Amino acid sequence: MSELVISDLRARVGEKEILKGVSLTIRSGEVHAVMGPNGSGKSTLSHVITGKPGYVVTGGSVTLDGVELLELPAWERARAGLFLAMQYPTEVPGVSLEAMLNASAIEAGRDSAAVHEAIAAEAARIGFDPALIVRPLNVDLSGGEKKRNETVQLGVLAPKFAILDEIDSGLDVDAMRAVTRRVEEATNNADAPLGVLAITHYKRLFEELEPDHVHVFAAGIIQTSGGAELAAELEETGYAEWVDTVESRDGFAAFDNPFGKTTFAEDLHLHEG
Ligand code: ADP
Ligand code: MG
Repeated sequence: MSELVISDLRARVGEKEILKGVSLTIRSGEVHAVMGPNGSGKSTLSHVITGKPGYVVTGGSVTLDGVELLELPAWERARAGLFLAMQYPTEVPGVSLEAMLNASAIEAGRDSAAVHEAIAAEAARIGFDPALIVRPLNVDLSGGEKKRNETVQLGVLAPKFAILDEIDSGLDVDAMRAVTRRVEEATNNADAPLGVLAITHYKRLFEELEPDHVHVFAAGIIQTSGGAELAAELEETGYAEWVDTVESRDGFAAFDNPFGKTTFAEDLHLHEG
């Protein structure tokens, strides 16, 4: 049994504080859903936990079985058992999925031939085109293929904890079912049940993947938590109840306005200037 403990986590990007004290404990086999408005900091949370550069942690801790992850580079966090399925998977020209997984497997002391077989088996399991295994990682893949690609990695690497950042985006109904079923199976693996932090906007992610806890994340903190019923409720009501602050209204305006934080008039002026 493993435990990922996020405690009063605070972080900023540039001068902007995005995480304002996030606390969450995930145990092996548990599925925690994090739902919240666009721009609230969900991806930031996933990046800070996994160690993407560019964020300044200003407080709190993230431990995996007592080991402080925030002091480790991203690759050591991965080796400790953490996995991120990225919202926007990175394209890596010149490196295939197979080469990447092989390198991490060898580093972890696993047998290369077994990994080769595992990749093929995982691809077949979720309907990932085997031709893509040897193509450059994520290059020219459709949105859905990228998400299946992430899921193949998850299956082969068999981490202790996985953060799924909008793994449902870009997936059609069949792919969604295949991917979420695969993750659910990993959470039920008797030997080493996967713990999951699943970021999403839609309760459809939870048709196959059963959430134990649903958290509303807005304005940098977890505002409230509940059971699976909360996901359905949120899809009905939205997040208005939790974003009714000046700060988050500004955030929404920036998101809704295609010209960003400037007004339309200012933007015209900027382009003229
Ligand atoms: P979500 O995933 O909930 O939609 P994000 O975590 O992607 O939100 O972003 C939260 C806020 O932080 C947004 O206002 C976004 O513009 C800002 N942000 C995130 N990453 C960066 C960055 N690298 N540089 C500047 N601003 C960033
Ligand atoms: Mg995001």
